[in-house]
Amino acid sequence: MLLVYGIYNFRPKRTAFRNDYCLFCGRARRSEQIRSFDVCHLFWIPLLPLGFRRRWRCTACGRLPHVPRGTRPAVAWAFLAVLVILGVAVWMIPLTAHDWIFEWVMRVAVPVFAIFTLVHISRVPQGPSLKEKLAAVAPASDTVCPFCGTALLLLSSQGSCPRCGVVRA
Ligand SMILES: [Zn+2]
Ligand SMILES: [Zn+2]
Repeated sequence: MLLVYGIYNFRPKRTAFRNDYCLFCGRARRSEQIRSFDVCHLFWIPLLPLGFRRRWRCTACGRLPHVPRGTRPAVAWAFLAVLVILGVAVWMIPLTAHDWIFEWVMRVAVPVFAIFTLVHISRVPQGPSLKEKLAAVAPASDTVCPFCGTALLLLSSQGSCPRCGVVRA
Protein backbone atom coordinates (compact mmCIF):
# COMPACT_ATOMS: atom_id res chain seq x y z
CA MET A 1 0.00 0.00 0.00
CA LEU A 2 1.33 3.41 -0.93
CA LEU A 3 0.77 6.05 1.70
CA VAL A 4 0.55 9.60 0.42
CA TYR A 5 1.00 12.11 3.20
CA GLY A 6 2.66 15.41 3.91
CA ILE A 7 2.12 18.90 5.22
CA TYR A 8 0.31 21.76 3.56
CA ASN A 9 1.67 25.25 4.26
CA PHE A 10 -1.23 27.64 4.07
CA ARG A 11 -0.79 31.42 3.89
CA PRO A 12 3.02 31.46 3.99
CA LYS A 13 4.45 34.79 5.08
CA ARG A 14 8.07 35.92 5.33
CA THR A 15 8.61 37.16 8.88
CA ALA A 16 12.37 37.53 9.33
CA PHE A 17 15.78 37.20 7.75
CA ARG A 18 19.27 36.58 9.05
CA ASN A 19 22.78 35.78 7.96
CA ASP A 20 23.14 32.04 8.27
CA TYR A 21 25.31 29.11 7.39
CA CYS A 22 23.59 26.69 5.02
CA LEU A 23 24.83 23.12 5.41
CA PHE A 24 23.37 22.16 2.06
CA CYS A 25 25.10 24.96 0.14
CA GLY A 26 28.18 24.50 2.34
CA ARG A 27 28.71 28.25 2.80
CA ALA A 28 27.40 31.35 4.51
CA ARG A 29 24.00 32.30 3.17
CA ARG A 30 21.05 34.53 3.82
CA SER A 31 18.08 32.67 5.25
CA GLU A 32 14.51 33.78 5.68
CA GLN A 33 11.91 32.71 8.20
CA ILE A 34 8.55 31.68 6.83
CA ARG A 35 5.46 31.50 8.96
CA SER A 36 2.56 29.44 7.69
CA PHE A 37 -0.52 27.65 8.91
CA ASP A 38 0.42 23.99 8.61
CA VAL A 39 -2.00 21.12 8.18
CA CYS A 40 -1.09 17.42 7.88
CA HIS A 41 -2.68 15.73 4.94
CA LEU A 42 -3.28 12.08 4.14
CA PHE A 43 -4.00 11.38 0.49
CA TRP A 44 -4.30 15.16 -0.07
CA ILE A 45 -7.13 15.44 2.49
CA PRO A 46 -6.23 18.00 5.22
CA LEU A 47 -6.72 16.15 8.48
CA LEU A 48 -4.63 17.45 11.35
CA PRO A 49 -4.07 21.20 11.81
CA LEU A 50 -0.66 21.88 13.37
CA GLY A 51 -1.27 25.60 13.79
CA PHE A 52 1.02 28.47 12.83
CA ARG A 53 4.61 27.31 12.54
CA ARG A 54 7.83 29.11 11.61
CA ARG A 55 10.78 27.64 9.81
CA TRP A 56 14.00 28.97 8.32
CA ARG A 57 14.74 28.56 4.66
CA CYS A 58 17.96 29.24 2.75
CA THR A 59 17.25 31.91 0.15
CA ALA A 60 19.78 30.33 -2.25
CA CYS A 61 18.70 26.69 -2.23
CA GLY A 62 15.29 26.89 -0.56
CA ARG A 63 16.09 24.16 1.98
CA LEU A 64 16.35 24.06 5.75
CA PRO A 65 19.79 25.61 6.30
CA HIS A 66 20.84 23.33 9.16
CA VAL A 67 20.05 19.99 7.57
CA PRO A 68 23.21 18.61 5.99
CA ARG A 69 23.33 17.30 2.46
CA GLY A 70 22.48 13.63 2.28
CA THR A 71 20.06 13.35 5.19
CA ARG A 72 16.49 12.96 4.15
CA PRO A 73 14.48 12.89 7.37
CA ALA A 74 11.15 12.65 5.53
CA VAL A 75 12.23 9.31 4.07
CA ALA A 76 13.29 8.03 7.49
CA TRP A 77 9.95 9.12 9.02
CA ALA A 78 8.04 7.34 6.24
CA PHE A 79 10.14 4.20 6.83
CA LEU A 80 9.40 4.41 10.56
CA ALA A 81 5.67 4.78 9.91
CA VAL A 82 5.71 1.67 7.71
CA LEU A 83 7.62 -0.26 10.41
CA VAL A 84 5.16 0.77 13.12
CA ILE A 85 2.18 -0.30 11.00
CA LEU A 86 3.95 -3.57 10.14
CA GLY A 87 4.89 -4.11 13.79
CA VAL A 88 1.28 -3.72 14.92
CA ALA A 89 0.15 -6.03 12.12
CA VAL A 90 2.58 -8.88 12.93
CA TRP A 91 1.51 -8.77 16.58
CA MET A 92 -2.20 -8.65 15.73
CA ILE A 93 -2.20 -11.51 13.25
CA PRO A 94 -2.40 -14.83 15.13
CA LEU A 95 0.53 -17.21 14.75
CA THR A 96 0.08 -20.01 12.25
CA ALA A 97 1.23 -23.57 12.92
CA HIS A 98 3.65 -23.95 10.01
CA ASP A 99 5.19 -20.45 9.87
CA TRP A 100 5.50 -19.61 13.55
CA ILE A 101 9.30 -19.34 13.56
CA PHE A 102 9.26 -16.77 10.76
CA GLU A 103 6.39 -14.93 12.43
CA TRP A 104 8.27 -14.69 15.72
CA VAL A 105 11.37 -13.44 13.89
CA MET A 106 9.19 -10.72 12.34
CA ARG A 107 7.62 -9.88 15.71
CA VAL A 108 11.07 -9.22 17.18
CA ALA A 109 12.89 -7.84 14.13
CA VAL A 110 10.31 -5.21 13.11
CA PRO A 111 10.28 -3.35 16.47
CA VAL A 112 14.11 -3.55 16.63
CA PHE A 113 14.35 -1.95 13.17
CA ALA A 114 11.79 0.66 14.24
CA ILE A 115 13.93 1.58 17.28
CA PHE A 116 17.07 1.80 15.12
CA THR A 117 15.23 4.09 12.71
CA LEU A 118 14.03 6.31 15.55
CA VAL A 119 17.57 6.55 16.95
CA HIS A 120 18.84 7.42 13.47
CA ILE A 121 16.25 10.19 13.12
CA SER A 122 16.93 11.69 16.55
CA ARG A 123 20.68 11.73 15.92
CA VAL A 124 20.65 14.64 13.46
CA PRO A 125 24.25 15.81 13.27
CA GLN A 126 24.17 19.21 14.99
CA GLY A 127 27.79 19.04 16.05
CA PRO A 128 30.13 21.80 17.10
CA SER A 129 31.14 22.25 13.47
CA LEU A 130 27.83 23.96 12.71
CA LYS A 131 28.14 26.12 15.82
CA GLU A 132 31.65 27.14 14.79
CA LYS A 133 30.48 27.94 11.28
CA LEU A 134 27.58 30.00 12.62
CA ALA A 135 29.92 31.88 14.93
CA ALA A 136 31.99 32.89 11.91
CA VAL A 137 28.95 34.38 10.15
CA ALA A 138 28.56 38.10 10.80
CA PRO A 139 25.04 39.08 11.85
CA ALA A 140 22.95 40.83 9.23
CA SER A 141 23.62 44.56 9.19
CA ASP A 142 21.22 45.62 6.44
CA THR A 143 19.60 49.01 6.78
CA VAL A 144 17.32 48.42 3.80
CA CYS A 145 14.82 45.56 3.54
CA PRO A 146 16.36 42.99 1.13
CA PHE A 147 12.91 41.96 -0.10
CA CYS A 148 11.09 45.22 -0.81
CA GLY A 149 13.83 47.86 -0.62
CA THR A 150 12.22 49.91 2.17
CA ALA A 151 14.48 51.43 4.81
CA LEU A 152 14.35 49.36 8.00
CA LEU A 153 13.12 50.84 11.25
CA LEU A 154 16.08 50.36 13.55
CA LEU A 155 15.33 49.90 17.22
CA SER A 156 18.31 48.94 19.40
CA SER A 157 19.89 45.89 17.73
CA GLN A 158 16.81 44.83 15.81
CA GLY A 159 15.48 46.20 12.58
CA SER A 160 12.09 45.69 11.05
CA CYS A 161 10.58 46.60 7.70
CA PRO A 162 7.61 48.98 8.00
CA ARG A 163 6.32 47.84 4.60
CA CYS A 164 6.42 44.02 4.60
CA GLY A 165 6.97 43.42 8.32
CA VAL A 166 10.12 41.27 8.15
CA VAL A 167 12.45 41.43 11.10
CA ARG A 168 16.25 41.46 10.87
CA ALA A 169 17.29 38.64 13.22
ZN1 LIG B 1 21.35 26.69 0.95
ZN1 LIG C 1 10.24 44.91 3.34
